[in-house]
Amino acid sequence: MKKILITGGAGFIGSHVVRRFVNKYPEYHIFNLDALTYAGNLENIKDIEDKSNYTFVKGDIVDEVFINELFSIHSFDGVLHLAAESHVDRSIEDPLAFVKTNVIGTMNLLNAAKNQWKNNFDGKRFYHISTDEVYGSLGAEGLFTETTAYDPNSPYSASKASSDHFVRAYGETYGLPYVLTNCSNNYGSYHFPEKLIPLFINNIINNKPLPVYGDGNYTRDWLFVEDHAIAIDLVFHEGKNHETYNIGGFNEWKNIDLVKLLCQIMDQKLGRSEGTSQQLITFVKDRPGHDLRYAIDASKINKELGWRPSVTFEEGLERTINWYLNNEEWLQNVTSGSYKDYYKKQYS
Ligand code: NAD
Repeated sequence: MKKILITGGAGFIGSHVVRRFVNKYPEYHIFNLDALTYAGNLENIKDIEDKSNYTFVKGDIVDEVFINELFSIHSFDGVLHLAAESHVDRSIEDPLAFVKTNVIGTMNLLNAAKNQWKNNFDGKRFYHISTDEVYGSLGAEGLFTETTAYDPNSPYSASKASSDHFVRAYGETYGLPYVLTNCSNNYGSYHFPEKLIPLFINNIINNKPLPVYGDGNYTRDWLFVEDHAIAIDLVFHEGKNHETYNIGGFNEWKNIDLVKLLCQIMDQKLGRSEGTSQQLITFVKDRPGHDLRYAIDASKINKELGWRPSVTFEEGLERTINWYLNNEEWLQNVTSGSYKDYYKKQYS
């Protein structure tokens, strides 16, 4: 039985990846390593916790001794590395926390994998999951390709860019068999409500202001998280070593248009008269270093591995909104406690 380590599997994307791998690959034993920070939640993967091919390990990737010990107990065949500090606004407040987890944490995993696999890389793979934000900002035209130069603008994207560079460097220097993907904004179930879509769904439900940065003209590409998990599965199994693949939704939206669409759907779902939720839109002071536009050219993964998004944005949003409306308890649990302090600090 192959032993696969997935880091950050109690978070948003990680929980979808862990669920997919545990259910789809009974021949793998999946170890989910997560520090359970504010963003990690075992409720996200409750449905698989009793599966015989699954083990949860609580631990911090920044702790080098712990990581080395974990690798000395288990001989992993593959690593899918998703654990990260992931929120740009938090990186502006506390950049060092992002360097620790995203850079040092990645280094610890790279070193542990390199030392464990020595020069016998047969059947081994280190998969680093990253973001399109490493490429910086686009103007009105153009798309990020795999050869676009890195140009990160936020402490978050700088820390992810740095970790990407180390992954490539370990491939070049030590021959570590890696694959790397850079993906656009994800949305879907189990998404912590500090990010745009779940934040606004939650605020609309609770009749709270919808804080839109600047003039709302920032543009992002959106991908349904389950389609990202499918792409990750494909790249892990069929991607070529030492290659990068961009993953995107072919689905660009200006923030303000997306917010209006959400308001419209939520009014219908909540039985409110048309235009009610739009009145909650409040323009707030811009985020410093805010990137104008991200857009992904996902033609390489499409051509080489045959991947493209399986659901339309309409379908994905419908499923996402229904999930939040049907999982009120999850939403209440994650927005109690420290979330309230964060929210007050961020938006008051
Ligand atoms: P998330 O914040 O929802 O989850 C991160 C998980 O990592 C949490 O469970 C958290 O507890 C865990 N974690 C954080 N620090 C840790 C540490 N020091 N040790 C062990 N575990 C730790 O993030 P996400 O949105 O699911 O993103 C997952 C990965 O995908 C990240 O690497 C992120 O950069 C990348 N990514 C995210 C998006 C997106 O739209 N969310 C898009 C592209 C790429």
